[in-house]
Amino acid sequence: MIRLFVPDPLLAGNRFHPTTEQAHYLRNVMRLGEGDAILVFNGRDGEWRATLAEVTKRGCALHLAEPIRPQTTGPDLELIVALVKRARLETIIEKAAELGASRVRLVVTRFTGADHTNVARLQAIATEASEQTGRLDVPEVAPPVKLDRLLDDWPGGRRLVFCDEAGDARPVIEALKDSAAHTVLIGPEGGFAPEERDRLRALPFVIPVSLGPRILRADTAAISALTLVQAAIGDWR
Ligand code: SAM
Repeated sequence: MIRLFVPDPLLAGNRFHPTTEQAHYLRNVMRLGEGDAILVFNGRDGEWRATLAEVTKRGCALHLAEPIRPQTTGPDLELIVALVKRARLETIIEKAAELGASRVRLVVTRFTGADHTNVARLQAIATEASEQTGRLDVPEVAPPVKLDRLLDDWPGGRRLVFCDEAGDARPVIEALKDSAAHTVLIGPEGGFAPEERDRLRALPFVIPVSLGPRILRADTAAISALTLVQAAIGDWR
C-alpha cells in the first residue's frame, strides 16, 4: 500500500490536505479515487490508514481512518559523509534511510570537491526512501559543515566510528562495544588528509575502524559500515 510522510498531526477523524505533489501522485500517477486507502506517518504519531476524500481533478483531502502501527524509533545511529559527487551522495542518502540511520550530516574536508550541495533534494530522497522502506520516521539531512567545526562541537556520549582506509585500524565488528549512540564517518573520494586523520585518531571519542583490505568507494563504505553497525549492535539483531 502507498505510504506518504506528512507533517500534520495524526489524530482519529482528522482531515488534511496532502501537498500538491502528493495529491498529483495519488490522483494522476496512482489513479486513486474517493475512498481509496493509503498509509500515512509523520515521525511522531505512528502509522495510520487514511482514505481519499473531496477528490477533484486538482486534488484531494485525506481522512484519517484508523491507527495501524504505534510510533517506534530505531537506534541512535548517525552517518556523517563527506561531500562526494552528487549521484553517489544521493545513493548514500537513500541507502542510509533504508538502513535505519537516524540522521545524516554532511561534512566538508580538505579533499572534498565542493562545499555545498542541494540539501532539500537530498532530504526529499531520504523521505521517499523512508516511505518505501516502511520506517516510521525520516532521517534529517543536515547542511554541510567543516570537519574541524564538527569535531570542535562534538556532543558528549557519542562515539565516532571513523572509517579509516589507512589499513591499520581494527576490524569494525571488533571495535564496536555496546549500543551507545554511534556516528559513522566516511571520507571523500580523495580520502582524509594526513592532518585530518591525525586529529581524528587523537580524539578520545573516536574509534578508527577498518572495512577490510580493499579501498571501497564512499557509497560502498557507507552502506557496509551502516550494515555492520546495525548487525553488530543495532536493530538487525
Ligand atoms: N583514500 C582512498 C584511496 O586511497 O583511494 C579513497 C577514499 S574512499 C573512496 C572514501 C572513504 O571510504 C574513505 O575516506 C573511508 O572513510 C572509507 N573507506 C573506504 N575503504 C575503506 C576501508 N577499507 N576501511 C575503512 N574505511 C574505508
